[in-house]
Amino acid sequence: MTNTLILDGKAVAQARRAILREKVAEFTKTKGRAPGLAVVIVGHDPASQIYVKNKIKACAEAGIESFHLEKPATLTQADLHKAIDELNARTDVDGILVQLPLPKHLNETEALERIRGEKDPDGLTSANLGLLFSGRTRVAPCTPFGVMKIFEHYKIDVAGKNAVVIGRSNIVGKPMAQLLLQANATVTMAHSKTHDLEAVTREADIVVVAVGQRHLLGKSAFKKGVVIADVGMHRGEKGLCGDVRLDELHGWAQAMTPVPGGVGPMTIQMLLENTFRLAGGKI
Ligand code: NAP
Repeated sequence: MTNTLILDGKAVAQARRAILREKVAEFTKTKGRAPGLAVVIVGHDPASQIYVKNKIKACAEAGIESFHLEKPATLTQADLHKAIDELNARTDVDGILVQLPLPKHLNETEALERIRGEKDPDGLTSANLGLLFSGRTRVAPCTPFGVMKIFEHYKIDVAGKNAVVIGRSNIVGKPMAQLLLQANATVTMAHSKTHDLEAVTREADIVVVAVGQRHLLGKSAFKKGVVIADVGMHRGEKGLCGDVRLDELHGWAQAMTPVPGGVGPMTIQMLLENTFRLAGGKI
Protein backbone atom coordinates (compact mmCIF):
# COMPACT_ATOMS: atom_id res chain seq x y z
CA MET A 1 0.00 0.00 0.00
CA THR A 2 1.50 3.33 -1.07
CA ASN A 3 0.75 6.63 0.59
CA THR A 4 -1.57 8.93 -1.31
CA LEU A 5 -0.26 12.44 -1.77
CA ILE A 6 -2.84 14.99 -0.65
CA LEU A 7 -2.80 17.94 -3.05
CA ASP A 8 -3.19 20.73 -0.53
CA GLY A 9 -4.81 23.52 -2.54
CA LYS A 10 -5.18 25.67 0.55
CA ALA A 11 -1.42 25.64 1.16
CA VAL A 12 -0.66 26.27 -2.53
CA ALA A 13 -3.11 29.19 -2.55
CA GLN A 14 -1.54 30.66 0.60
CA ALA A 15 1.96 30.41 -0.84
CA ARG A 16 0.84 32.02 -4.09
CA ARG A 17 -1.03 34.76 -2.18
CA ALA A 18 2.17 35.74 -0.34
CA ILE A 19 3.99 36.10 -3.68
CA LEU A 20 1.06 37.99 -5.19
CA ARG A 21 0.95 40.38 -2.22
CA GLU A 22 4.58 41.39 -2.87
CA LYS A 23 3.96 41.87 -6.59
CA VAL A 24 0.80 43.89 -5.96
CA ALA A 25 2.68 46.13 -3.48
CA GLU A 26 5.35 46.80 -6.10
CA PHE A 27 2.68 47.47 -8.75
CA THR A 28 0.84 49.88 -6.44
CA LYS A 29 4.06 51.79 -5.70
CA THR A 30 4.95 52.11 -9.38
CA LYS A 31 1.48 52.88 -10.76
CA GLY A 32 0.25 55.00 -7.86
CA ARG A 33 -2.86 52.86 -7.44
CA ALA A 34 -3.76 49.30 -6.46
CA PRO A 35 -5.35 46.86 -8.91
CA GLY A 36 -9.15 46.98 -8.45
CA LEU A 37 -11.83 44.31 -8.50
CA ALA A 38 -15.54 45.23 -8.54
CA VAL A 39 -17.97 42.63 -7.26
CA VAL A 40 -21.63 43.05 -8.18
CA ILE A 41 -24.16 41.14 -6.13
CA VAL A 42 -27.86 41.22 -6.92
CA GLY A 43 -30.32 40.17 -4.22
CA HIS A 44 -29.68 38.38 -0.95
CA ASP A 45 -28.77 34.76 -1.74
CA PRO A 46 -27.03 33.67 1.51
CA ALA A 47 -24.42 31.43 -0.20
CA SER A 48 -23.55 34.26 -2.62
CA GLN A 49 -23.16 36.67 0.31
CA ILE A 50 -20.58 34.32 1.86
CA TYR A 51 -18.70 33.87 -1.46
CA VAL A 52 -18.58 37.65 -1.98
CA LYS A 53 -17.38 38.24 1.58
CA ASN A 54 -14.59 35.69 1.05
CA LYS A 55 -13.55 37.30 -2.22
CA ILE A 56 -13.40 40.75 -0.65
CA LYS A 57 -11.34 39.39 2.26
CA ALA A 58 -8.96 37.68 -0.17
CA CYS A 59 -8.56 40.95 -2.11
CA ALA A 60 -7.59 42.75 1.09
CA GLU A 61 -5.02 40.05 1.89
CA ALA A 62 -3.41 40.51 -1.51
CA GLY A 63 -3.54 44.33 -1.45
CA ILE A 64 -6.13 44.45 -4.25
CA GLU A 65 -8.76 47.14 -3.86
CA SER A 66 -12.30 45.79 -3.94
CA PHE A 67 -15.49 47.65 -4.78
CA HIS A 68 -18.62 45.99 -3.49
CA LEU A 69 -21.85 46.89 -5.31
CA GLU A 70 -25.07 45.55 -3.74
CA LYS A 71 -28.14 45.77 -5.94
CA PRO A 72 -31.75 44.95 -5.02
CA ALA A 73 -33.31 41.64 -6.16
CA THR A 74 -35.78 43.72 -8.21
CA LEU A 75 -33.01 45.17 -10.43
CA THR A 76 -33.89 45.19 -14.14
CA GLN A 77 -31.63 43.76 -16.84
CA ALA A 78 -31.18 47.26 -18.26
CA ASP A 79 -30.09 48.66 -14.89
CA LEU A 80 -27.69 45.74 -14.39
CA HIS A 81 -26.16 46.47 -17.79
CA LYS A 82 -25.92 50.15 -16.91
CA ALA A 83 -24.03 49.29 -13.70
CA ILE A 84 -21.66 47.01 -15.65
CA ASP A 85 -21.12 49.69 -18.32
CA GLU A 86 -20.16 52.20 -15.63
CA LEU A 87 -17.63 49.74 -14.20
CA ASN A 88 -16.31 49.00 -17.71
CA ALA A 89 -15.55 52.71 -18.03
CA ARG A 90 -13.82 53.19 -14.67
CA THR A 91 -10.02 53.42 -14.74
CA ASP A 92 -9.66 52.20 -11.15
CA VAL A 93 -11.51 48.93 -11.91
CA ASP A 94 -9.45 46.21 -13.62
CA GLY A 95 -11.82 43.31 -13.03
CA ILE A 96 -15.60 43.01 -12.81
CA LEU A 97 -17.31 40.04 -11.28
CA VAL A 98 -21.04 39.50 -11.35
CA GLN A 99 -21.83 37.00 -8.61
CA LEU A 100 -23.96 34.08 -9.83
CA PRO A 101 -26.67 32.95 -9.60
CA LEU A 102 -28.64 36.05 -10.51
CA PRO A 103 -32.34 36.29 -9.60
CA LYS A 104 -34.44 34.24 -12.04
CA HIS A 105 -35.78 37.22 -14.03
CA LEU A 106 -32.27 38.26 -15.09
CA ASN A 107 -30.35 36.75 -18.00
CA GLU A 108 -26.91 35.63 -16.74
CA THR A 109 -25.34 35.12 -20.16
CA GLU A 110 -26.29 38.62 -21.30
CA ALA A 111 -24.99 40.12 -18.07
CA LEU A 112 -21.64 38.29 -18.31
CA GLU A 113 -21.28 39.23 -21.97
CA ARG A 114 -21.70 42.88 -21.01
CA ILE A 115 -18.35 42.75 -19.18
CA ARG A 116 -15.50 43.80 -21.46
CA GLY A 117 -13.10 40.92 -22.08
CA GLU A 118 -10.26 43.13 -20.80
CA LYS A 119 -12.09 43.35 -17.44
CA ASP A 120 -13.28 39.75 -17.08
CA PRO A 121 -11.15 38.03 -14.40
CA ASP A 122 -13.43 34.96 -14.43
CA GLY A 123 -12.46 34.37 -18.06
CA LEU A 124 -16.05 33.44 -18.89
CA THR A 125 -16.99 35.96 -21.58
CA SER A 126 -17.11 34.48 -25.07
CA ALA A 127 -14.21 36.79 -25.98
CA ASN A 128 -11.97 35.25 -23.32
CA LEU A 129 -13.18 31.69 -23.88
CA GLY A 130 -12.52 32.21 -27.61
CA LEU A 131 -8.98 33.37 -26.89
CA LEU A 132 -8.44 30.36 -24.62
CA PHE A 133 -9.74 27.88 -27.18
CA SER A 134 -7.64 29.40 -29.96
CA GLY A 135 -4.46 29.19 -27.89
CA ARG A 136 -4.13 32.93 -27.20
CA THR A 137 -5.24 32.93 -23.56
CA ARG A 138 -5.86 36.30 -21.89
CA VAL A 139 -7.12 34.82 -18.62
CA ALA A 140 -8.33 31.25 -18.07
CA PRO A 141 -11.45 30.45 -15.98
CA CYS A 142 -10.45 30.35 -12.33
CA THR A 143 -11.44 26.83 -11.25
CA PRO A 144 -9.76 24.82 -14.04
CA PHE A 145 -6.79 27.19 -14.00
CA GLY A 146 -6.46 26.52 -10.27
CA VAL A 147 -6.47 22.75 -10.89
CA MET A 148 -3.62 23.17 -13.40
CA LYS A 149 -1.64 25.27 -10.90
CA ILE A 150 -2.07 22.56 -8.25
CA PHE A 151 -0.69 19.97 -10.71
CA GLU A 152 2.19 22.33 -11.55
CA HIS A 153 2.98 22.94 -7.89
CA TYR A 154 3.20 19.21 -7.15
CA LYS A 155 5.11 18.55 -10.39
CA ILE A 156 2.39 16.29 -11.76
CA ASP A 157 3.28 16.24 -15.44
CA VAL A 158 0.15 15.76 -17.52
CA ALA A 159 1.92 15.57 -20.90
CA GLY A 160 1.15 12.35 -22.74
CA LYS A 161 -1.14 11.13 -19.94
CA ASN A 162 -4.72 9.95 -20.38
CA ALA A 163 -6.87 12.58 -18.71
CA VAL A 164 -10.62 12.29 -18.27
CA VAL A 165 -12.71 15.36 -17.39
CA ILE A 166 -16.20 14.55 -16.12
CA GLY A 167 -18.55 17.47 -16.71
CA ARG A 168 -18.80 19.83 -19.69
CA SER A 169 -19.90 23.16 -18.23
CA ASN A 170 -18.45 26.38 -19.65
CA ILE A 171 -17.21 27.32 -16.20
CA VAL A 172 -15.30 24.11 -15.36
CA GLY A 173 -15.41 21.08 -17.69
CA LYS A 174 -14.82 22.59 -21.13
CA PRO A 175 -12.00 24.98 -20.18
CA MET A 176 -10.47 22.24 -17.99
CA ALA A 177 -10.25 19.90 -20.98
CA GLN A 178 -8.75 22.70 -23.05
CA LEU A 179 -6.06 23.50 -20.47
CA LEU A 180 -5.13 19.82 -20.18
CA LEU A 181 -4.97 19.57 -23.96
CA GLN A 182 -2.70 22.62 -24.12
CA ALA A 183 -0.47 20.89 -21.58
CA ASN A 184 -0.31 17.90 -23.98
CA ALA A 185 -2.55 15.44 -22.15
CA THR A 186 -4.70 13.06 -24.20
CA VAL A 187 -8.13 14.26 -23.12
CA THR A 188 -11.51 12.54 -22.95
CA MET A 189 -14.62 14.39 -21.84
CA ALA A 190 -17.39 12.51 -20.07
CA HIS A 191 -20.87 13.75 -19.13
CA SER A 192 -24.33 12.57 -18.16
CA LYS A 193 -24.85 10.77 -21.51
CA THR A 194 -21.57 8.83 -21.32
CA HIS A 195 -22.10 5.05 -21.39
CA ASP A 196 -20.40 3.15 -18.58
CA LEU A 197 -18.67 6.12 -16.99
CA GLU A 198 -16.53 3.95 -14.71
CA ALA A 199 -15.11 2.02 -17.68
CA VAL A 200 -14.00 5.37 -19.12
CA THR A 201 -12.51 6.74 -15.91
CA ARG A 202 -10.70 3.47 -15.09
CA GLU A 203 -8.52 4.02 -18.19
CA ALA A 204 -7.38 7.42 -16.95
CA ASP A 205 -4.10 8.50 -15.34
CA ILE A 206 -5.72 11.78 -14.33
CA VAL A 207 -9.41 12.38 -13.58
CA VAL A 208 -10.96 15.79 -12.98
CA VAL A 209 -14.45 15.36 -11.55
CA ALA A 210 -16.81 18.33 -11.97
CA VAL A 211 -20.25 16.75 -11.90
CA GLY A 212 -22.01 18.27 -8.93
CA GLN A 213 -23.25 15.00 -7.37
CA ARG A 214 -22.24 14.28 -3.84
CA HIS A 215 -19.96 11.21 -3.49
CA LEU A 216 -20.80 9.90 -6.99
CA LEU A 217 -17.58 7.96 -7.54
CA GLY A 218 -15.51 5.63 -5.35
CA LYS A 219 -12.57 3.24 -5.68
CA SER A 220 -14.21 1.10 -8.41
CA ALA A 221 -14.08 4.09 -10.80
CA PHE A 222 -10.32 4.55 -10.73
CA LYS A 223 -7.21 2.60 -11.61
CA LYS A 224 -4.44 2.24 -9.06
CA GLY A 225 -2.04 5.19 -9.11
CA VAL A 226 -4.59 7.67 -10.51
CA VAL A 227 -4.40 11.41 -9.85
CA ILE A 228 -7.80 12.90 -8.92
CA ALA A 229 -8.93 16.52 -8.80
CA ASP A 230 -12.35 16.69 -7.15
CA VAL A 231 -14.03 19.96 -8.10
CA GLY A 232 -17.42 19.07 -6.58
CA MET A 233 -18.56 21.11 -3.63
CA HIS A 234 -21.51 20.10 -1.46
CA ARG A 235 -22.45 21.56 1.87
CA GLY A 236 -23.91 19.07 4.32
CA GLU A 237 -24.31 18.44 8.05
CA LYS A 238 -20.69 17.27 8.28
CA GLY A 239 -19.37 20.26 6.35
CA LEU A 240 -18.16 20.32 2.75
CA CYS A 241 -17.66 17.24 0.59
CA GLY A 242 -16.96 16.56 -3.08
CA ASP A 243 -18.11 14.36 -5.97
CA VAL A 244 -15.69 11.56 -5.02
CA ARG A 245 -15.68 9.23 -2.00
CA LEU A 246 -12.11 10.20 -1.23
CA ASP A 247 -11.94 8.09 1.92
CA GLU A 248 -11.98 4.97 -0.32
CA LEU A 249 -8.99 6.21 -2.31
CA HIS A 250 -6.29 6.44 0.36
CA GLY A 251 -3.48 4.06 -0.61
CA TRP A 252 -5.04 3.59 -4.07
CA ALA A 253 -4.70 6.99 -5.72
CA GLN A 254 -1.24 8.42 -6.31
CA ALA A 255 -2.53 11.89 -5.45
CA MET A 256 -5.85 13.66 -4.87
CA THR A 257 -7.30 17.02 -3.85
CA PRO A 258 -9.26 17.01 -0.58
CA VAL A 259 -12.66 18.68 -0.13
CA PRO A 260 -12.51 21.12 1.56
CA GLY A 261 -9.01 22.52 1.11
CA GLY A 262 -8.34 21.42 -2.48
CA VAL A 263 -9.69 23.12 -5.58
CA GLY A 264 -11.90 25.69 -3.78
CA PRO A 265 -9.15 27.87 -2.26
CA MET A 266 -7.29 27.90 -5.57
CA THR A 267 -10.34 29.23 -7.44
CA ILE A 268 -10.33 32.41 -5.37
CA GLN A 269 -6.55 32.77 -5.70
CA MET A 270 -6.84 32.53 -9.49
CA LEU A 271 -9.48 35.29 -9.42
CA LEU A 272 -6.97 37.56 -7.67
CA GLU A 273 -4.15 36.60 -10.03
CA ASN A 274 -6.37 37.15 -13.09
CA THR A 275 -7.37 40.59 -11.78
CA PHE A 276 -3.69 41.46 -11.32
CA ARG A 277 -2.94 40.22 -14.85
CA LEU A 278 -5.76 42.34 -16.31
CA ALA A 279 -4.34 45.38 -14.48
CA GLY A 280 -1.10 44.76 -16.38
CA GLY A 281 0.76 42.94 -13.60
CA LYS A 282 3.03 39.96 -14.29
CA ILE A 283 2.82 36.77 -12.24
P1 NAP B 1 -22.92 21.93 -14.03
O1 NAP B 1 -22.96 23.13 -14.90
O2 NAP B 1 -24.16 21.46 -13.36
O3 NAP B 1 -22.33 20.73 -14.91
C1 NAP B 1 -22.29 19.43 -14.42
C2 NAP B 1 -21.77 18.51 -15.49
O4 NAP B 1 -21.74 17.20 -14.96
C3 NAP B 1 -22.63 18.47 -16.75
O5 NAP B 1 -21.81 18.54 -17.89
C4 NAP B 1 -23.36 17.12 -16.66
O6 NAP B 1 -23.57 16.50 -17.90
C5 NAP B 1 -22.37 16.30 -15.87
N1 NAP B 1 -23.04 15.24 -15.13
C6 NAP B 1 -24.12 15.32 -14.32
N2 NAP B 1 -24.42 14.12 -13.81
C7 NAP B 1 -23.52 13.25 -14.30
C8 NAP B 1 -23.31 11.86 -14.13
N3 NAP B 1 -24.10 11.12 -13.34
N4 NAP B 1 -22.29 11.28 -14.79
C9 NAP B 1 -21.49 12.01 -15.58
N5 NAP B 1 -21.63 13.35 -15.77
C10 NAP B 1 -22.63 13.96 -15.14
O7 NAP B 1 -21.86 22.09 -12.86
P2 NAP B 1 -20.49 22.97 -12.76
O8 NAP B 1 -20.82 24.39 -12.63
O9 NAP B 1 -19.53 22.52 -13.79
O10 NAP B 1 -20.00 22.47 -11.32
C11 NAP B 1 -19.73 21.12 -11.03
C12 NAP B 1 -19.41 20.97 -9.55
O11 NAP B 1 -18.27 21.73 -9.25
C13 NAP B 1 -20.51 21.48 -8.60
O12 NAP B 1 -20.51 20.66 -7.45
C14 NAP B 1 -20.04 22.86 -8.23
O13 NAP B 1 -20.52 23.27 -6.97
C15 NAP B 1 -18.57 22.63 -8.19
N6 NAP B 1 -17.77 23.84 -8.41
C16 NAP B 1 -16.76 24.04 -7.55
C17 NAP B 1 -15.93 25.13 -7.72
C18 NAP B 1 -14.80 25.30 -6.77
O14 NAP B 1 -14.24 26.37 -6.70
N7 NAP B 1 -14.40 24.25 -6.05
C19 NAP B 1 -16.15 26.03 -8.77
C20 NAP B 1 -17.18 25.78 -9.67
C21 NAP B 1 -17.99 24.66 -9.48
P3 NAP B 1 -24.57 17.09 -19.05
O15 NAP B 1 -23.80 18.20 -19.70
O16 NAP B 1 -24.79 15.94 -19.96
O17 NAP B 1 -25.79 17.56 -18.33
